[in-house]
Amino acid sequence: MTAPIVAVVGGGQLARMMAPAATALGITLRVLVESDSASAAAAAHETVVGLPTDPDAVARLLAGPAPTVVTWEHEHIPADVFDACRAAGVPARPGLAALTFAQDKIAMRARMAELGLPNPSWREITDEEGLAAFIADQGGPVVLKTARGGYDGKGVRIVAQAADARDWIEATAHGGPRLLAEAKVPFTRELAVQVARRPSGDAVTWPVVESVQRDGVCSEVTAPAPGLSAERADQARDIAMRIATELGVTGVLAVELFETADGLLINELAMRPHNSGHWTIDGSVTSQFEQHLRAVLDLPLGATTALAPVTVMANVLGGARGDLGTALTDVSDPGAKVHLYGKGVRQGRKVGHVTVTGDAVDAVYARAVASAAIVRDGGAA
Ligand code: ADP
Repeated sequence: MTAPIVAVVGGGQLARMMAPAATALGITLRVLVESDSASAAAAAHETVVGLPTDPDAVARLLAGPAPTVVTWEHEHIPADVFDACRAAGVPARPGLAALTFAQDKIAMRARMAELGLPNPSWREITDEEGLAAFIADQGGPVVLKTARGGYDGKGVRIVAQAADARDWIEATAHGGPRLLAEAKVPFTRELAVQVARRPSGDAVTWPVVESVQRDGVCSEVTAPAPGLSAERADQARDIAMRIATELGVTGVLAVELFETADGLLINELAMRPHNSGHWTIDGSVTSQFEQHLRAVLDLPLGATTALAPVTVMANVLGGARGDLGTALTDVSDPGAKVHLYGKGVRQGRKVGHVTVTGDAVDAVYARAVASAAIVRDGGAA
């Protein structure tokens, strides 16, 4: 038997967390890492050092023995990479026709509107007059976003007056990313739903989760979302299924949603494993990382059933502890599953997460947050 080879573009923690799943399945994981010290470099079976913008590096990723399939751990994939995959006869999943809608928030909003799926009010912004008119329409501050290149709240700001956004509008006029403005949604909470779809069309969803963001960065995820009605959970899963099918997504798709008094609205899409799905490693029969590999290889998908009534994942962002190597000594909760990404600590950078499963949401939440704080700041914190 020849083991499948999955090539991944991007060497962050998402590629790193695919490695244990690949090992278990007997799949070779070959990762294009930005540097030898990238998070995934220590975990991948094979590494190629280089950037997706470097045709030589991409050629080395695709060189023989050729990968069975190429996939991504982030959305910033130049169109040239898809051309190189086509020329090499290696399928790229998800393909550019789908990935575009995770790369570009204007394209995504326009497509969701075409599909009749629930968007906040939005408009592309090309000048201050357009932004001023949208602010006036909304009757208050709006959310301005760069269509491309944003992550973790970078590329998102709240704007009360058009003049406050002059810098971004000028940058757009000089070749910078296009801009869109959205209504500032009065959400009661943020939800996310993940779906995995294989090329043959089969698709499965995981339970809908609640995610809490601090300063635009995901902080905790609770699965399933506490108190979510069955009807609303079905709506969320239907939205995700519909997007995966209509856009022809292959692999894992995360749909971030706002829950409001009037229903659900789509925030954004990620076509890869996503922070809102890290809980599945310890909390679901099939993790998002295993499922992504299965889906892009067009293998039968695994069960997405939760292993416990409640799972909480708490992110570890860079804090007081400068060297995470000492953290394991200090975490004494035997049910706390600690995941460290092998990244240098910088303030606010995602460097790991902790997952706890159990029966009662408040207790599980408190334990996950407490252990994550110990990893971040030290035993005395
Ligand atoms: P990123 O691409 O950086 O993840 P998002 O579009 O997800 O950016 O925005 C980051 C966070 O900003 C969201 O999780 C949410 O908390 C807030 N946000 C984004 N869009 C809106 C909106 N239209 N209304 C209210 N809050 C928003």
